[in-house]
Amino acid sequence: MVCINKWSEEDSYDFRDKYIANGFNEDIALRTYSSRLLGSDPELVLHGGGNTSVKTTYEDLFGNAHSVLCVKGSGWDLASIEPEGHPMVYLNPLLKLKKLNVLSDEDMVALHRQNLINPKSPNPSVETLLHAFLPHKFIDHTHSVALLSIADQDNAAEICTKIYGNEVAIIPYVMPGFDLAKLASEIHDQAEEKAKSNSKELKGMVLIKHGIFSFGKTAEESYL
Ligand code: ZN
Repeated sequence: MVCINKWSEEDSYDFRDKYIANGFNEDIALRTYSSRLLGSDPELVLHGGGNTSVKTTYEDLFGNAHSVLCVKGSGWDLASIEPEGHPMVYLNPLLKLKKLNVLSDEDMVALHRQNLINPKSPNPSVETLLHAFLPHKFIDHTHSVALLSIADQDNAAEICTKIYGNEVAIIPYVMPGFDLAKLASEIHDQAEEKAKSNSKELKGMVLIKHGIFSFGKTAEESYL
């Protein structure tokens, strides 16, 4: 879905070597690399907008492994992001929130902060739950100019279905927050099942009047 593929095998290895030497794992190193690729493309990221995430494992001081979501934090620009720009949040407490019917923005932000591995981290993105509720390991979200020229039209859903068929889930406009995260997750799961039953793979989601999500098992698959 990205117009120009700037992925470089060599650069990705350099990032991996550099950040692993600094104590970060491979997932975080490659998340940093491809986030910068997205962030440095003005077509994809309006005014530093968009956010990226990876689900990985964090080992605490006792050697216990925890599932975590590393999701873009406020105050960081994707174009120059460092691993600290994707604060680590315990994933399981976030997943439990799916069972709720309502959650205020204040409670949501408080829950994000309560579940940070490093309490000094910046606030995780307001779209953290959207990333958490999707089952994919790497998730890239941008407010692509080209996509928005379609997603802003009145008949956007119709146009997107014509272009992408069943390989992309279409999410109607809802303000970012808990309600959008829940709705997107439900529509995503139905669309993924439908794609699978047609021997196809769901490649992304278009959020009407908002932006696009792509995902994959690897940083490269999600970016391409
Ligand atoms: Zn967004």
